[in-house]
Amino acid sequence: MDLGAELRAELVKAVATVIDRHADELTSLDQAIGDGDHGINMKRGFEAVLADVANLSAKPWPDFLKGVGTMLVMKVGGASGPLYGTLFMALGKDLPAEPGRADLVRAFRGAVTAVQARGKSERGQKTMLDVLIPTAEALEAGTADAAAVARAAHAAADATIPVKALRGRASFLGDRSIGHMDPGARSSALMIEAIASVLEKA
Ligand code: ADP
Ligand code: MG
Repeated sequence: MDLGAELRAELVKAVATVIDRHADELTSLDQAIGDGDHGINMKRGFEAVLADVANLSAKPWPDFLKGVGTMLVMKVGGASGPLYGTLFMALGKDLPAEPGRADLVRAFRGAVTAVQARGKSERGQKTMLDVLIPTAEALEAGTADAAAVARAAHAAADATIPVKALRGRASFLGDRSIGHMDPGARSSALMIEAIASVLEKA
């Protein structure tokens, strides 16, 4: 695997592109059960990461990921900014400079656990964790090809539709949150698909 600066830049571009393409959709999902800013928040965050891609991708993996996480905390805002920021910063703290697949799988699980601690949340509460936790499990189970990882993540996001929200703004709606996909679950699935497909080609 070539895990160099070019790959880091490609990952940033892939995630920024998918978030940009789906920003309106993420906003609509958040209009249904939140305050309608998730697409705008995420787009602002990843545009900022993309604007700094040359600088960020030149750094080794740990510093690159910490840099991305810090930028997301600063630029995304809302509940999702600190949570996605935690995810990337925790990955950066855990990964060695030259990570292999086993390092990625272990660090991803650790980062998801850090998000749970930060959000005081668990699986089944209709949040991004409903995608992040099953993805960690799929990776630990040895799911290797990008399409399978993406399918699992999207199925997990779909599975948030019938769930009642117990965390975040959507929880204020109680039963009225049922019947809508969680916006953070959707953005997680989109990012996971983009990242898996870039890493598979590396
Ligand atoms: P805000 O809710 O502050 O407007 P966003 O709209 O950007 O922030 O993000 C909303 C998403 O954040 C939700 O769809 C959910 O996935 C996620 N989220 C909110 N609170 C939590 C939490 N405590 N734990 C995990 N994820 C959360
Ligand atoms: Mg919102």
